[in-house]
Amino acid sequence: MASNSAAGIQWDLSDLFVAHDDRRIESTLMSCRTSAEKFAARFREALEHPTTLSAAILHEAMEELALIYEALGRVGSYAGLLYAADTAKPEYQDLDQRVEQRSTEIRNLLLFFELAWLKVDDEIADQLIKDEQLKAYRHYLTSQRRYRPHTLSEVEEKLLNERDNTGRNAFGRLFSEVTSSLVFKLEREDKTEELNLSQILSLLHEPDRNLRRRAMETVYQELSQHGQVLTFIYDTLIQDNLTVDRLRSYRHPMEQRHLANEIDGTAVKTMMAVAEKNYPLAHDYFRLKAKLLELPQLALYDQYAPVGKEVRPFPYAKAQQVILDAFEAFDPKFRALAGEFFAKNWIDAEIRKGKRGGAFCASPSPKLHPYVLCNYDDNLRDVMTVAHELGHGLHGCLSRKQNYFNYDTPLTTAETASVFGEMLVFDYLLEQQSDREVQIALLAGKIEDIFATVFRQNVLTRFEELAFSARQEKRLTPDALGKLWLEANGKYYGDAVTMPDSYRWGWSYIPHFIHSRFYCYSYVFGQLLVLALYRMYKDEGKSFVPKYIALLEAGGSDTPDTLLKPLGVDIHQPEFWQKGFEEIRGLTTKLQAII
Ligand SMILES: [Zn+2]
Repeated sequence: MASNSAAGIQWDLSDLFVAHDDRRIESTLMSCRTSAEKFAARFREALEHPTTLSAAILHEAMEELALIYEALGRVGSYAGLLYAADTAKPEYQDLDQRVEQRSTEIRNLLLFFELAWLKVDDEIADQLIKDEQLKAYRHYLTSQRRYRPHTLSEVEEKLLNERDNTGRNAFGRLFSEVTSSLVFKLEREDKTEELNLSQILSLLHEPDRNLRRRAMETVYQELSQHGQVLTFIYDTLIQDNLTVDRLRSYRHPMEQRHLANEIDGTAVKTMMAVAEKNYPLAHDYFRLKAKLLELPQLALYDQYAPVGKEVRPFPYAKAQQVILDAFEAFDPKFRALAGEFFAKNWIDAEIRKGKRGGAFCASPSPKLHPYVLCNYDDNLRDVMTVAHELGHGLHGCLSRKQNYFNYDTPLTTAETASVFGEMLVFDYLLEQQSDREVQIALLAGKIEDIFATVFRQNVLTRFEELAFSARQEKRLTPDALGKLWLEANGKYYGDAVTMPDSYRWGWSYIPHFIHSRFYCYSYVFGQLLVLALYRMYKDEGKSFVPKYIALLEAGGSDTPDTLLKPLGVDIHQPEFWQKGFEEIRGLTTKLQAII
């Protein structure tokens, strides 16, 4: 095995427990169970007869609930982290499963609380929410009730849930089975290789143009073979969504997602329109890339072709230094916080057999500090990954001021600190490079990453909108879906990129369409928000820093809209979203200047 610079970088979980057989694990679970039973005995009656429910009792309940969840979180995190670090160890698997099962039992004892709170009449609930005693829990108590108009009776909910297993969930499983069993046959060096979907898609990043073209043709050729089934699954699920929306009194197919994201739909509409208006920015880049590749025009399979030269190897110690220096340039507090992760061993970075792939940051609760896992492989992408996860880590540290219920953020703002951290490190790295080819590779890579998040996810959302509205008229056919897909993509690629006709199957393997409709706009929101904030930082300089830190400290204590206001951000204004595109234009202009 090649020597790896992150060898030996393992996390120290002793702040949670000392070993998988630490006796305190069992005693914590036991005391959580007892506390949950006591909680139910003490508060069920009060919650279910809300005319006598006082703010003082509700406050007591919230405090008690937070204590139980915190304790459960400590055990759950420990078991989960231990398992992630070594998935092959049977005793870790056992612990993880045991903790999960026991936690579910305990959580079920507490479930009545949320349901009962949802049932409390508006008038009584409003009075309680307004009470000063409950100030710290106001956002949580309010936002929990947002599903109230869309929740059915207990019997109906139960029926829907149980029928879903053989209904929409079954179609979802069928989709996963079909797409994960796909085999793509590709001739390479006189051999026929059999590849899975992610393997063949990764060939689109290869330097050999002919290989990229054949890989793309093979992908859509194979998908078209399953076109009838994939169309039937998607068509059925859209109809199912439309039916359930009607039963739950949602006025619009996206409404449920907006509610989950705590975002007003009109802000999303504005954001998407601004993104669309900026498609010409992408066209400019595609023409620039064609020039770099010495092609008259870019084809779809050239989009991710490599350009310039990669910086490699990038040792872990250097990554640590670069990240800390980049954070320091933003604010010394950032460096101090991130420095703790390295110094106190809160990061597990080495590549080991049995360790989980990918990367994540776990921020279990305000009483505990976060942990970061990654698989550091000495390349630039991994430097960015560490910067990303440490961004989450800083957010997790700074928002420890909040109580348990105000700690987490909704999806739309969950990636703010992570992507911001990446931007800081990216700019810092770019500045340090003097090799022109390396600068080209860095900039192109960043721009393409941003496009994949901002523009492509916007196209995906537009396609979903088109599909839902077409389904309201009639059943969807492969032909109809293909047309809608090409229509949505045609706007993005314009005349700058040629799309092969087989690309009409491009929609058919995307899991988000199947498992979580309209999820994709959250990516656009998160990325553009950060780009716009980053732009503000550049424009405002140091005066931006304390406002940004205050935003991270606020955790999830209010809706994103409200939390962003002190920064002068209004997500309903097109001008705000446009700032994000100015930042993107800055990157493409920089690239142009180098070329
Ligand atoms: Zn992230």
